[in-house]
Formats: sequence, structure tokens, C-alpha cells
Amino acid sequence: MDLTQYRTRLDQDHNGHKIATCIQCGTCSGSCPLSNRMDHAPRELFALLRDGDLETVLQSNTPWFCVSCFQCTVRCPKQIPVTDIMYGLKQIALEAGSAPAAHKIPDLYRAFEQVVDRNGRISEAAIMARYGRRHPGDAVRQLPLALRLLQKGRLEMRPARIAATPKLARLLQPFQPNQSGEAPR
Ligand code: SF4
Ligand code: SF4
Repeated sequence: MDLTQYRTRLDQDHNGHKIATCIQCGTCSGSCPLSNRMDHAPRELFALLRDGDLETVLQSNTPWFCVSCFQCTVRCPKQIPVTDIMYGLKQIALEAGSAPAAHKIPDLYRAFEQVVDRNGRISEAAIMARYGRRHPGDAVRQLPLALRLLQKGRLEMRPARIAATPKLARLLQPFQPNQSGEAPR
């Protein structure tokens, strides 16, 4: 899938077309608690999208720093669903293989997805075990917290698994990337 098709997906499936109404007021950037960590604050990211520079946008760390606080969305004077568009950009960046390599959050997303695919529910220990294969230092740093949670009975070392994992696999199948790496519409 080329960038034009990804842009169409963003516009059609993730409300990306609403960016055309952005007046570049900067309210989103001013409201965002993480804008100082982002390669491009939300207003700037949308300016790039309006310029057609999806390639830069997909390589930006901005969507990966978004913590879905929705401040931008509720304050945008044009009712642009900024947070939803950030989700869409993350999804497309993963499919396009454009997620910033130096950013750790895409690996956390992948670990989360793999554990849910396999077990039908989340398990903090299993997610951290998978994530820790790529980022062992992070996993080691979390060990004291894991031990405290374990002592209080708040952490299960063996992930629980739902009985109907084949049914779950069938349910998720339409959302899996196909052999060409493209996600079905
Ligand atoms: S708050 Fe809305 S209109 Fe203003 S820059 Fe952000 S997205 Fe554009
Ligand atoms: S939802 Fe994301 S982009 Fe919007 S203000 Fe919160 S962290 Fe920033």
C-alpha cells in the first residue's frame, strides 16, 4: 500500500478528512501535556498533513506520546477528533512499518496485542515479559514494583486464558493484516 492509500484510509476510517477544517489556532498544542516531548505538536502535525507530508507524520513520535487525555479534542473550536486521529496514525504507522524505531511505545503496543491475541485477556506479567525481550533494562527496572504487586496478590505470573481462544481468533481475523501487510478495510 502506498502513502496515497494510507492517506485515504486515514481520511475515511479515522476522520482524517476533518483536518481540512483546522484553523491552526494551536489550542490543541497548548492543551497537550506532552507537546514538549513531541517531534511535532498536534497543530504542527496537522499542518504537515494538510501539506500532504504523511511520510514525515508517520515517522514522527507525536502519536506515540499521545496519552489519550482528550484535552485537545474537547477544546478544539472546530470539533476535530484529534485523539481519534492520533490512534489512526499509530495504526497506520505500524502497518506501514514507519513507527519511529527509537520509540518504545510501539513495542509495548505489539506486546499488548500479542498477549490478547493469545490469551483473550491482558496479563501485565506476560506483556512485560514480551516487551522486555526488546527492552530488558526497562523490564529489570520494573522488577521491584512487580515483586511488591506479587506480595499483595495483585499480579498473576501465569496469564489466565479464556476457553474460547479459537472463537476469539475468528473474531479478530478480519482485523489482522493480510499477506501483503495491508489491514483489511
Ligand atoms: S485546536 Fe483544532 S482547529 Fe485548532 S489547531 Fe488544533 S486541530 Fe486545528
Ligand atoms: S489526547 Fe493526546 S494529543 Fe490530545 S492533548 Fe491529550 S496527549 Fe495531547
